[in-house]
Amino acid sequence: MSHEEDLIDYSDDELQQTDLPTNGAAATGDKVADTAADAKGSYVGIHSTGFRDFLLKPELLRAITDCGFEHPSEVQQACIPQAILGTDVVCQAKSGLGKTAVFVLATLQQIEPVAGETSVLVMCHTRELAYQIKNEYARFSKYMPEVKTAVFYGGTPMQKDIDMLANKDQHPHIIVATPGRLNALVREKKLRLGNIQRFVLDECDKMLDQIDMRRDVQEIFRATPQQKQVMMFSATLSEDIRPICKKFMQNPLEIYIDNQEKLTLHGLQQYYIKLGEGEKNRKLNDLLDTLEFNQVIIFVKSTLRATELDKLLRECNFPSIAVHSGVSQEERIKRYKEFKEFNKRICVATDVFGRGIDIERINLAINYDLPNDSDSYLHRVGRAGRFGTKGLSISFVATAEDEDVLKSIEKRFAVSLEEFPEGGVDPSTYMGT
Ligand code: ADP
Repeated sequence: MSHEEDLIDYSDDELQQTDLPTNGAAATGDKVADTAADAKGSYVGIHSTGFRDFLLKPELLRAITDCGFEHPSEVQQACIPQAILGTDVVCQAKSGLGKTAVFVLATLQQIEPVAGETSVLVMCHTRELAYQIKNEYARFSKYMPEVKTAVFYGGTPMQKDIDMLANKDQHPHIIVATPGRLNALVREKKLRLGNIQRFVLDECDKMLDQIDMRRDVQEIFRATPQQKQVMMFSATLSEDIRPICKKFMQNPLEIYIDNQEKLTLHGLQQYYIKLGEGEKNRKLNDLLDTLEFNQVIIFVKSTLRATELDKLLRECNFPSIAVHSGVSQEERIKRYKEFKEFNKRICVATDVFGRGIDIERINLAINYDLPNDSDSYLHRVGRAGRFGTKGLSISFVATAEDEDVLKSIEKRFAVSLEEFPEGGVDPSTYMGT
């Protein structure tokens, strides 16, 4: 709820220097202590509070029951009670712990839909994630038929969005969007943000890290009223970015479920395999042939490599699909759905598919190319073993740079990655919950 004039155009240098304290629990709001050492990692074992205790609308409770949620996760327990009262929230908790439901439930709980007015704005950095969040709104607003949600992102005809906004009966009360398209709609005066009451950023560090995206986010933020609830979420939230997030907020509740230095990936077995670049295809083939898995996601470093590897796998009769930014938006969503709906079991992807994507059946993640840093590693392998389920990750280490990244991963997550055993791994240790 910052004043417009408080918002500056950050340059990269400014990211490091800011006038707000960087480690100040005392600086603003309540803060829930880091719980890395004994992080529960899932809702299992936290049975003291039920969703009923949050005093949610009956329509929401029914939808929650339909979704099969029995107990709130740690992050939901920490955030929902305050979020539904309109408190600003900044929340970091590793992926898969149910952050999405926090803002979806908190916004649905508070919404009072008015025809032709949008009061909730949720932004995220990829189109797939926007689409997924829209689906979460659909699930949880099942018994609130009067509430309309729309998703807007680039790569699709803008006229469709414009037509929807021009029609009072179709005009969404909740918009989930990527910043580029949303800003275009605002600039062209097709969308007015004067009635926004809640402003949510998912994967907020990513959105504020990238200059272009940050500009769009700021411009959009400025077009919204001063009085509003602001909520931001991410699996990773460095000490540097936290004060920047807080500039958008007023006295936020700060929840950092995992200590940044010691993020742990519960339930995930992590291995590496050292090999030469030329041996990767053969090794991958072996692994896919011998390992048991429900669905696997294979990460590569470029669009071109994703296309090529996918082609190769299909030539070897593997049920593979590729998702990356090199294909049209429509096609990307189509492929994402195909994989999510289990029509394909193998997905070759670039980092664009990593963050925030939630596909329950993925229990194997392979880094065909190791990412450049430990954050990306977390987002990638976090796809396997979601919400307290188990998973397996295998990373190919081919170069000296890869070895450095491997070391930084081990340091960051306080784990030591073992070399993948010759005889493989007992499937019962990573399959199922
Ligand atoms: P995050 O946003 O933290 O990455 P998600 O919101 O995508 O996590 O949640 C991960 C998965 O866990 C989703 O499939 C979601 O439906 C499920 N989930 C979330 N909260 C609960 C809960 N309280 N009980 C059971 N499943 C949950």
